[in-house]
Amino acid sequence: MGILVQKFGGTSLSTDEARRYVLGHISRERQRQLDLVVVVSAMGRKGEPYATDTLLSLIHEHGDNLPPRERDMLLGCGEMISATVLCSILRSNSIPAVALTGGGAGIITDSQFGRARILEIRTEAIHKALQEGQVVIVTGFQGVTETGELTTLGRGGSDTSATALGAALRAERIDIYTDVNGILTADPRIVKDARPLSVVGYAEICNMARQGAKVIHPRAVEIAQQARIPLRVRSTFSEEEGTLVTDSLDAEQAAIVRDRYVTGVAHVSGVTQITVHAQDGHSDMQLHVFQAMAHHHISVDFINVNPGGAVYTVFDADADQAVAVLNEIGYYPKAVSGCAKISVIGGGMNGVPGIMARIVEALTEEGIPILQSADSNTTIWVLVREAFMAKALQALHAKFSLHQ
Ligand code: ADP
Ligand code: ASP
Ligand code: MG
Repeated sequence: MGILVQKFGGTSLSTDEARRYVLGHISRERQRQLDLVVVVSAMGRKGEPYATDTLLSLIHEHGDNLPPRERDMLLGCGEMISATVLCSILRSNSIPAVALTGGGAGIITDSQFGRARILEIRTEAIHKALQEGQVVIVTGFQGVTETGELTTLGRGGSDTSATALGAALRAERIDIYTDVNGILTADPRIVKDARPLSVVGYAEICNMARQGAKVIHPRAVEIAQQARIPLRVRSTFSEEEGTLVTDSLDAEQAAIVRDRYVTGVAHVSGVTQITVHAQDGHSDMQLHVFQAMAHHHISVDFINVNPGGAVYTVFDADADQAVAVLNEIGYYPKAVSGCAKISVIGGGMNGVPGIMARIVEALTEEGIPILQSADSNTTIWVLVREAFMAKALQALHAKFSLHQ
């Protein structure tokens, strides 16, 4: 029998009603005679009982002095609650099921607590349970070190658990169930007429995910791509099939992909633009600036270096430190906080003239100043003030007719 991996995100598990939908998707696929491995996230979102952010708030109240190892022990509880509750629901509906922790499912990681990388998956325990006819429920987002310490994979890591398990088990497909109808042309919370993409390649989705489309984790897409396993992103709350991510397109699908210049828009908010001007007598300015950022572990993005100076972005949370560090070494940067990086993404834009002109047109028509821009052959980025972010996304979405 083939294996199907189903992953259910936080909102898909947060209420009794939501869990009834989950039960429906599991029952339906079981009737198709597939062996099922079900990966679960912690229930709900920030503020809701047992959500990852809620667990984190328990320690923030005390000044958050918990070491990373113990913090992972706490965070791991959220997924364990989901897995055991779902196990109980399946069993009370006469579906044989077993719940495994990440370690129990054989997910071995390195010991970078809070951002562990999967080293290996030992699938014996899963295969044994599948042979016994059980639905195997696995806690997402976690693994175990060789010495038995629980680790977590970084925020949004349940998607990675699902695709890594799918790859290790040579699954037929990996289905990511969430609260929206697939991967959309923009975040539907901001662009109301965003539309689900029906079939897309891995590279494009990986790019969208890296640029802030948080519906799926980029690492998860990379793993599915390497293993060449199709990925479906769909809603728990509907029967619609959502988005299929694959590179094996039939002729009709391939034609659609080629015709599309722009696939979607994505955003990352909460960034600060830092501008440093070259000064007389500081010929190594660029070297000093970026070495200082690296030395203080400040992640930099949107980098533009020219003989007149350097301009780049950091997360707002790192901005004060970045400015202080630069002041200390004698460069006095200009910092503009509260910016958003907007990405216009499309594998089909490569070599097509006029895309940047349309971007500038869309933003100018709305009176939105562009603070900085850059491009690659599949993406054009613009930096705008966060106050203009929603308007900019809506204008770009409309300019490229992404709702159609
Ligand atoms: P889950 O808990 O199921 O993993 P997430 O909150 O991590 O859910 O991801 C789903 C959310 O991602 C959606 O509610 C949506 O607001 C957001 N999102 C951002 N960009 C996109 C996009 N391009 N397509 C779909 N959803 C997106
Ligand atoms: N519960 C974890 C988080 O909120 C993992 C996940 O949802 O993918 O980051
Ligand atoms: Mg998620």
